Amino acid sequence: MAGTATTNVVQAAYIVSAVLFVLSLAGLSKHEKAKEGNAFGVTGMVIALLATIWLAVSQAHNGIVTLLLILVAMAIGGSIGLWRARVVEMTQMPELVAMLHSFVGLAAVLVGFNSFGESSEFTGGLTVHLVEVFLGVFIGAVTFTGSIVAFLKLSARIKSSPLMLPARHWLNLLAVIVSLVLLVVFVQTHALWPLALMTVVALAFGWHLVASIGGGDMPVVVSMLNSYSGWAAAAAGFMLGNDLLIVTGALVGSSGAILSYIMCKAMNRSFISVIAGGFGQEVSLGDDKDYGEHRETNAEDVAELLKDAKSVVITPGYGMAVAQAQYPVAELTSQLRKRGIDVRFGIHPVAGRLPGHMNVLLAEAKVPYDIVEEMDEINDDFPDTDVVLVIGANDTVNPAASEEPTSPIAGMPVLEVWKAKDVVVFKRSMATGYAGVQNPLFFKDNSQMLFGDAKERVEDIIKAL
Ligand code: NDP
Repeated sequence: MAGTATTNVVQAAYIVSAVLFVLSLAGLSKHEKAKEGNAFGVTGMVIALLATIWLAVSQAHNGIVTLLLILVAMAIGGSIGLWRARVVEMTQMPELVAMLHSFVGLAAVLVGFNSFGESSEFTGGLTVHLVEVFLGVFIGAVTFTGSIVAFLKLSARIKSSPLMLPARHWLNLLAVIVSLVLLVVFVQTHALWPLALMTVVALAFGWHLVASIGGGDMPVVVSMLNSYSGWAAAAAGFMLGNDLLIVTGALVGSSGAILSYIMCKAMNRSFISVIAGGFGQEVSLGDDKDYGEHRETNAEDVAELLKDAKSVVITPGYGMAVAQAQYPVAELTSQLRKRGIDVRFGIHPVAGRLPGHMNVLLAEAKVPYDIVEEMDEINDDFPDTDVVLVIGANDTVNPAASEEPTSPIAGMPVLEVWKAKDVVVFKRSMATGYAGVQNPLFFKDNSQMLFGDAKERVEDIIKAL
């Protein structure tokens, strides 16, 4: 009786947690409600943890030992998590997220093998259970190595350009077919070897899928791995018979899939070809092409240009995050607005290294939301704009995306800043952006380069004003 009562209370707690997770996602989809959304998520997770620990302890042979083991594991994991979260720089967030996704994948693999080890105690439909184990390990292994490659690429430990193995799409197809054959053998023989062999294949498959995707397309990969990590958690939920893990995994999996779809639309990529790994195009980085000479300017001249302008658009990118230039940029914005100049921000959906990266930085520096516009809202206004300040952005303002069909970023919609009267590009050198592609914008007649750290240069302009 007591056991049933505990299970009922835990199930009720799981439902409350699941509702809180849904409310959390709803809150996180809007700037104004993001904090509230986070609070819902944290509350849901606390309830879920307490309920799960209670269930585990009440079902264990020795409750005290189980409780102690869980608490020790939580203390170790929690301390590492707290330490990493405190020391991580905002610019390192994407690689941290990728690393965390890899842990979810690894956990699903380990749960899968453990669950297979306990199959002899299984009383339900054994075939269904074996399929669950197989799929859980497959998704987990792909997520694990895929996320590790994403981590290595995002932290610049390996080159972000795509790995172009000959017959790479056939290799991917082969991995899927071999895994399907092994699934049939596994279900029929109940042996460990097909599971172990598929794990090796899936690890290589995950590695190759992400390695063959180029730097400019990494945002889609990151959100896709986010989605995979959700499905891996849901698979672990099936294996462990934990309903909340299934619900939570499905929420993460589907919201990650929706985000991947939005990213694909923003980057004009086919969702299916992303899932299949690589976009199957011959690429040229454009570094052997002669674009002509670039023009240099200085902070005083840019200040003069701004004084005479009626409308200014600022398009920030990853360099603004690196320089932490958002505070002087906010200060410059407020000074220009005081002079009656119309200042707006144009945000590319994949600017920076995280979805919403620029919006977070600008919100942090208290830039009013109503002057921060999305790419689609602002792109038609560039021909009527006097000055565009490109602050540490590169790929997201690269005209090669529409002008050069063999560019790795070909087809990706970009902020069409070159259509404005004058463009000032803030960066430290003529180096390429994340996709490794040369940017013809820097060589256009109406473009001027303002070299140096973006924060220092913006501060110089404020002084000159
Ligand atoms: P890019 O990464 O294309 O370029 C950033 C530029 O900033 C560089 O060219 C660099 O030039 C400059 N820079 C770096 N540090 C400074 C500094 N301290 N001061 C001034 N300039 C600096 O940026 P974008 O935001 O335009 O594009 C984002 C790219 O990242 C896209 O290719 C996108 O696909 C990819 N990506 C996006 C993700 C997302 O979710 N948003 C995730 C993963 C990848 P220099 O070195 O000369 O200073």
